[in-house]
Amino acid sequence: MTDLELVAGLYALVAAQDARLVELDVYSLQTCRTCGATWYGRHDDPCDWCNRRLEAAQRRAHDDMLRPPDVGEDHELRQAALTHWGSELRHAVDENLVTLTEAETAVKRASGG
Ligand SMILES: [Zn+2]
Repeated sequence: MTDLELVAGLYALVAAQDARLVELDVYSLQTCRTCGATWYGRHDDPCDWCNRRLEAAQRRAHDDMLRPPDVGEDHELRQAALTHWGSELRHAVDENLVTLTEAETAVKRASGG
């Protein structure tokens, strides 16, 4: 049996199980109140589309947080911007949005070290 046949077989099994759960009224048509997505599932299933969007937003926020302010070396507001960024990073570490190591690495990189 090839990998493709194995995957096709697994999909068929899952589809048959899903159909059976719909038949048994375990699964019913769900509609997300946030994004309008629809799927067959349990009443309290979370919305996969919203979850994936939330995860992507969290990854972007994480990456943005580690990016130093885009203020030139000679700009008069550079020190204030870096101080503000440092403060934001400290909160991000406290809130477990970034790790202490990630924050320290970002600060070292921003200060040329
Ligand atoms: Zn949704």
